[in-house]
Amino acid sequence: MVEATNFIEQIINEEIESGKVDENKIQTRFPPEPNGYLHIGHAKSLCLNFGVKEKYNGKCNLFLDDTNPSKEKEEYEEAIKKDIEWLGFSYDKVVHASDFYEQIYSYAEKEIEMGNAFVCDMTPEEISANRGTLTEPGKESPYRNRSVEENLKLFHEMREGKFPDGSKCLRAKIDMASPNINMRDPVIYRILRETHYRTGDKWCVYPMYDFAHPICDYLQGVTHSLCTLEFEDHRPLYDWVGITLGFNPKPRQIEFARLNVTNLVMSKRYLKRLVEEGKVDGWDDPRMPTLTGLRNRGIPSEALKDFCARIGIAKANSEVQISYLEACVREYLNANAERAMAVLKPLKVTITNYPDGKSEQVDFEINPNEEIKRTRKINFSKHIYIDAEDFSLAPPPKYFRLKKDGYVRLKSAYIIHCDDVVFDKDGNVQELLCSYVEDSRSGNDTSGIKVKGTIQWVNEADGKDIEIRKYGYLLKDAEYEGQDFSERMNENSVSVFNGKVEPYVFTNDIDTPYQLMRTGYFKRLVVKGKEILSEIVSLKDNFNK
Ligand code: ATP
Ligand code: MG
Repeated sequence: MVEATNFIEQIINEEIESGKVDENKIQTRFPPEPNGYLHIGHAKSLCLNFGVKEKYNGKCNLFLDDTNPSKEKEEYEEAIKKDIEWLGFSYDKVVHASDFYEQIYSYAEKEIEMGNAFVCDMTPEEISANRGTLTEPGKESPYRNRSVEENLKLFHEMREGKFPDGSKCLRAKIDMASPNINMRDPVIYRILRETHYRTGDKWCVYPMYDFAHPICDYLQGVTHSLCTLEFEDHRPLYDWVGITLGFNPKPRQIEFARLNVTNLVMSKRYLKRLVEEGKVDGWDDPRMPTLTGLRNRGIPSEALKDFCARIGIAKANSEVQISYLEACVREYLNANAERAMAVLKPLKVTITNYPDGKSEQVDFEINPNEEIKRTRKINFSKHIYIDAEDFSLAPPPKYFRLKKDGYVRLKSAYIIHCDDVVFDKDGNVQELLCSYVEDSRSGNDTSGIKVKGTIQWVNEADGKDIEIRKYGYLLKDAEYEGQDFSERMNENSVSVFNGKVEPYVFTNDIDTPYQLMRTGYFKRLVVKGKEILSEIVSLKDNFNK
């Protein structure tokens, strides 16, 4: 027996033990609707469904729930496949609800033949007006008692295109007085003339999600149909379909909590709006919570999966701090990313006592967390840049960076002393004139000078000019419950710097992440044809463990 790590695996284990399911046939599915790009919430569902597959040596299909032709596109389907691949999951098959349209239609005929479904001539508005409320039962449709023959004839005519959109539908005949509104003769087929991205104009009737889903699960051999909590009230209908159609073994629907993350919105509808209104540079904008955005941002898929594993699977909805995700990313990158040096706001430093034209190489540690330490060479010479933020004309007490008449260590190189400051005509600091301490070279420091601060630098001769971008959140925290997202937009979610970086970052693959020392984790990114350094995550850990 496998060890359960969440309540769903616990249920599966109990079912295996009691003989209710065959332990060799455990099957789940990941069921996105191809109407947008996947987001972090989907990553949770992916980890859960593929986690069960892997644990029980079972199966998991990618099931594209394409029963809503007006919103679905091939582009989205392809993006979904790419995202799943990025996370490293492999599905057994790709199946679509539309692959089963013929069978679903036959099952609907079967329901009619059993007296479990009827063609209703009420409009969608009338149906909804007669559905009743939580405290009052609904009203039965006047078409509810049509004969099986008449229903079959009308249902066939619906398919043949005899009736306009919305003028008729097929409804399950269940119970208009049910306390569960989903059971009040729900619509299971509608007429809709809309070109489907896979079946074209073959169909003008489409099954509703609640009818199609249990059938597709059953036809695939799904044993456990895992979905989010908002489908809990739909479970009686899911079961009704399986029971009336005699599914054996009948798949079991189990609901789990949706992932909500502070400062993020994860509804595809809203994310689409951001793209369409031009608030972001597309679905893959590095600020987007889409998987393609996270990938573009440089979030390692391992870190995302680690995050999903740590937050676990619960039965009750809750909100996870975004800083927790960032902490997972930081932890991964701290262990795995190479170090490099860049300055966001270059300030020129001339080392006056360093020989003109001389250049030497210093040893720079690639990642101090590696078990076997590796170093690489960096050029050092008379002209370098430090970050303007690392120099202060009016330093506060305990200022360990560079100040006039003060010392600081240049990472992996020498201790320098600031002798003089050159100002431009507006009185801004333009350049620092420093001297270096010759016998203070890192790894071989015999100078005896104690300095508390170490700062990064970039050698002028080979440093590259580059735009460096840091990000804030797209959304501010809600100020009040139910606040609309449009009022929460953070209009200043990108900060741009014209920095300098050592050439090393261009020698690796474009997606390679770096810890730019004392600056953050970054990767190269091409934005509108121009290469920039784009922030993955800051160095600061504000997650409250
Ligand atoms: P959206 O509201 O963003 O459109 P959805 O639920 O309609 O999301 P689907 O494409 O239908 O998205 O969902 C595919 C699967 O992913 C479903 O099983 C769904 O429950 C799950 N899922 C979607 N969002 C989340 C989330 N935030 N947390 C966990 N699972 C999610
Ligand atoms: Mg949906």
